Amino acid sequence: MINSFIVDGHCDSLIDFVDNVRTLKDPSGGGQWDIQSARHTGVSLQFLAAYIQTKYKPDRSSHRGLQLIEGAHRFIANYSDQIFLVQGKTDLEQIPDPNRLGILLSVEGGEILGEDLFMLDVIFKLGVRALGLTWNQRNALAAGVGEADTHLKLTTFGQEVVQRMNKLGMIVDVSHLNEAGFWHVLEISMDPIVATHSCAKALCDHPRNLTDQQLRALARHKGVVGVNFYPQFLKNTGVATRHDVVRHICHIAEVAGVETVGLGSDFDGIKEAPEGLGHVGDYNYLRNDLIKAGFSILEVEKIMGRNFMRLLSDVLK
Ligand SMILES: [Zn+2]
Repeated sequence: MINSFIVDGHCDSLIDFVDNVRTLKDPSGGGQWDIQSARHTGVSLQFLAAYIQTKYKPDRSSHRGLQLIEGAHRFIANYSDQIFLVQGKTDLEQIPDPNRLGILLSVEGGEILGEDLFMLDVIFKLGVRALGLTWNQRNALAAGVGEADTHLKLTTFGQEVVQRMNKLGMIVDVSHLNEAGFWHVLEISMDPIVATHSCAKALCDHPRNLTDQQLRALARHKGVVGVNFYPQFLKNTGVATRHDVVRHICHIAEVAGVETVGLGSDFDGIKEAPEGLGHVGDYNYLRNDLIKAGFSILEVEKIMGRNFMRLLSDVLK
């Protein structure tokens, strides 16, 4: 029996809470993620994304982003006996807490900042500790993977944001960033960076995935990639099983080292899920699959959570 705890680098469940679709308390409300199931399966830290949907961009991005952050605080207050907000190194020391699930608040899309650096300090003061510089579109910081011109680097503002994030102790997330932006961030960031929810391009040729070269560079900078469970990122056919998640984990471990691999389910952000891994409660099966795939217990612990924990203790203040 192994006692590994899980860190999940990305889920979009917060939107359901804020839009009053469900409480996220337990599985009775439906969806792919809820507190009860996450705790039962051993999730000790969940990155909770404030994802700003396209319909709010550009004019209402900040407004919507702040609404989601306010919602996250209400969510944490509602279930304070079961979850707590992780903001700094001292909070990390409490993980794994047998009774409570840690929540790391992240924002998906630098649109929340508009073109003002002070907004980064505002969201930091509101407890946000990770920021995806872009979603798929271009914004004031950089260009996302959905942009046709892949050579766009970070704007001056984007560079200032990364530098300020280093200073504050915030995680720079490059999951949706275009490739030129990815290399630019690596050039300027003093801290390790993260792709919270992406897969390996060598196994599935999708713009959201990382090339072997990118994976190796991430490893050199002590970064982590959270493997995404979206079938479109796992397999060219768009139909996948839990085994395909294991294949991507094995590939990244082989190319970039086992220290570079983490998990970033993207639960409640993916319409389809791999067979056998459609819900946060299915993490137990994945743990067993990794053992069967030949990873040692220590390696499984790293993949499932310790790599992300190491990175967080490197970056958070
Ligand atoms: Zn995403």
